[in-house]
Amino acid sequence: MAGNHKLPELPYAYDALEPYIDEQTMRLHHDKHHLGYVNGLNNAEKALAEARKSGDFSQIQHLERLAAFHGSGHFNHVLFWNNMCPPDQYVDPSGALLEQINKDFGSFDNFKAQFAAAAKAVEASGWAFLCWQPAGNQLVTLAAENHHKQTQFTAIPILALDVWEHAYYLKYQNNRGQYVDNFWNIVNWKDVAENFESAKKYKFPLK
Ligand code: FE
Repeated sequence: MAGNHKLPELPYAYDALEPYIDEQTMRLHHDKHHLGYVNGLNNAEKALAEARKSGDFSQIQHLERLAAFHGSGHFNHVLFWNNMCPPDQYVDPSGALLEQINKDFGSFDNFKAQFAAAAKAVEASGWAFLCWQPAGNQLVTLAAENHHKQTQFTAIPILALDVWEHAYYLKYQNNRGQYVDNFWNIVNWKDVAENFESAKKYKFPLK
């Protein structure tokens, strides 16, 4: 139903990612920033529903722009929260996901270097992603400006890293690189592997 998106609870306590992501950042990031995207998406969808009712689509370009920004903002954050776990629960990737990483990037270390470089290179606010690209049957790294620009259609994100300043500035100030490097201590590879298995079920009709 249009305009009915809700802010999900974090899958762990606000301080669970310490010392790599601090409690105050998590509270602001989840309770204020993420909530803002949920509200923005709901407002855009409600306005689109009104437009359908009245038949007045004069604002369609504006409303779809809002839906793209806030919708991507909401969904990226859901992925991001679930992609992380407390550092004492960290386990390296294994199984089919690790095999695919090795196949597409040469090694786990190569993948980490490429993903981190992409995250550090994002201009201003954005994201780094590991995606399953069903159109090429391969894992790829991609980056987005804002929440949604500059990326590649049909790619399905399975690991997301928020590199907006709101994600790290209280603790790391201008040192995004350290924040990105520390991210590897709190990646929930079990969650990423589940996303990988789900993503592989989508078949792109590339002949
Ligand atoms: Fe964010």
